Amino acid sequence: SATAPSGPLVVLGAGPGGYSAAFRAADLDMEVILIERYPTLGGVCLNVGCIPSKALLHTAAVMEEAQHMAAHGITFGKPKVDLAKLREFKSGVIGKLTGGLAGMAKARKVRVVHGVAEFTGPNTIEVKTEKGAETIQFGQAIIAAGSQSVKLPFMPEDPRVVDSTGALELAAIPKRMLIVGGGIIGLEMGTVYSALGARLDVVEMLDGLMQGADRDLVKVWLKKNEHRFDNIMLKTKTVGAEAKKDGIHVTFEGEGAPKEPQVYDLVLQAVGRSPNGKKIGADKAGVAVTDRGFIEVDSQMRTNVPHIFAIGDIVGQPMLAHKAVHEGHVAAEAAFGEKSYFDARVIPSVAYTDPEVAWVGITEEQAKKEGVKVKKGMFPWAASGRAIANGRDEGFTKLLFDEQTGRIIGGGIVGTNAGDLISEVALAIEMGADSVDIGKTIHPHPTLGESVGLAAEAADGHCTDLP
Ligand code: FAD
Repeated sequence: SATAPSGPLVVLGAGPGGYSAAFRAADLDMEVILIERYPTLGGVCLNVGCIPSKALLHTAAVMEEAQHMAAHGITFGKPKVDLAKLREFKSGVIGKLTGGLAGMAKARKVRVVHGVAEFTGPNTIEVKTEKGAETIQFGQAIIAAGSQSVKLPFMPEDPRVVDSTGALELAAIPKRMLIVGGGIIGLEMGTVYSALGARLDVVEMLDGLMQGADRDLVKVWLKKNEHRFDNIMLKTKTVGAEAKKDGIHVTFEGEGAPKEPQVYDLVLQAVGRSPNGKKIGADKAGVAVTDRGFIEVDSQMRTNVPHIFAIGDIVGQPMLAHKAVHEGHVAAEAAFGEKSYFDARVIPSVAYTDPEVAWVGITEEQAKKEGVKVKKGMFPWAASGRAIANGRDEGFTKLLFDEQTGRIIGGGIVGTNAGDLISEVALAIEMGADSVDIGKTIHPHPTLGESVGLAAEAADGHCTDLP
C-alpha cells in the first residue's frame, strides 16, 4: 500500500493462518517470504492438531460403528490394533497435506525460510536457520506464530504425562488414562484412546464438560459416552502429581475429588493453549503484546504498528483453524492495499467426538443470559428416516431465531456428522435467513441435512414430520 515501507511481505509462522495469508498475498502478486521453525508447513493444525486427531477419530468411529452393527445382525471379530500401522496411516495423512502445501508455496513462488524467527526492529526479522542467522528486511509483516499447550506447573517430567502433541504420537495404549480438562481437545483424544481400549477419567474445574455448548446437546453426547469413563470429576482440580513406577499418582481437590490419589498409565494435559506472542521479539518491532501473550488487532488485523498484522491463535479466541484462515486472507488483502476487514457474524465450533457436537452463533444459554428473546425450532433425529436407517437416531437439530427480526441467530446440532451439517446454519446466519427461507429450501431426502429444514418448520409450528 502507499503508506507501507517497500520490501517483501514477511509471514511469521506457517500454520493455517500463515500459509493462507502467504498464498493470498502471492496470488495478489506480492513478494512473500514465509518463515517456519519446523521442517514442514501447516502449523499445529496439520502436524499436531486438527488433521492427525481427525485421522485417529475416523479410525475410532469405524471401530464403534462395527460394534454397533451387531444390533443389525452383522458381527465382526474383536478388533486387532496394530499401533505402528495406525501411526503410519496418521503420518501418511499429515505428509500428504503438508507436502501439498510445500508444492503450493513453490507454485506461487513464495520463498520459504526454515528457522526460528525474532523481530530485531520495525522492518527487520532475524531467522536462525540451519545454515546460520539470516536477517530479512521487510516492508510489511504478518505475525501468525500461533499457540502452544498450557502445562500445569506441578506435573512431573515423565513420558506418561503428555499434552495433545504427545497423545497424538500414540506411543502405547494405557489401561487407565486421566484427561485433565474437559474441553474439546481432551474429549476428542479421549474418544480415540477409549476406542483403542483405554478406560478414562476426566477432571474439569467447571460444572460441565464441553463448555460453550448448550447443555442439551452435551447431554446427548454424554449419554452415548458415559460407558467410556470410570469417573467424571466436575468442579474439581488436579493439585498434585507424582511419577512412580506403577504410574502417575494424581491428587484432586473439589466436589468430585476422590479421597485417595489415583494412579494412571497416561495423563493428558488439555487445559487450554497459550499464545506465542512473547517469544518473537515483538517489542523490538514496537508491537504491543498483552500480559497473556496475545497481540491486539483491528478489524483489518493490523497491530498497533500499522505495517505489521497479526492473525490466528495469537490474536485471541476462538483458537480455531477456520478463523485463522479467514483472518489470514484479510491481513494479506489489507497489506496489498485492499479495504478488506474481518466481519464474520459467526464462527462455528465442533467437537468431533462420537456423536459430534456442533454449534454456531448464539446458544440458548447465552440468549437467556443476555435477555435475547428467541423462537426455537427443534427436530429430534428419532423422527429422521436417515438417522434411524443409520441406527444412530440419538441426535437433534436446534435452530434459534430472533423473536423480533425473525432471522436465525444460532443453532446447535448433536449427532453423527453434526460438524458437516452446521455449515448450513452458519450460512443461513450470514445470509440473514429466516425460518421460512430455511424451511422452504428443499433438502434432499433422506439425509441428516433435512433436519435443518425440518427444525425451521418446527419453529413455525408446522413440521409434518413431527407428531
Ligand atoms: P499455528 O497452527 O499454531 O501455527 C503457528 C506456526 O508458527 C507453527 O508452525 C510454529 O512452528 C510457527 N512459529 C511459531 N513461532 C515461531 C518462530 N519464532 N519462528 C518460526 N516459526 C514460528 N482447530 C479447528 O479449527 N478444528 C479442529 O478440529 C482442531 N483440532 C485441534 C486439535 C488439537 C489436538 C489441537 C492442539 C488444536 C486443534 N485445533 C483445531 C486448533 C488449530 O490447530 C489452531 O487454531 C490453528 O492451528 C491456529 O493456526 P495459526 O495459524 O494461528 O497457528
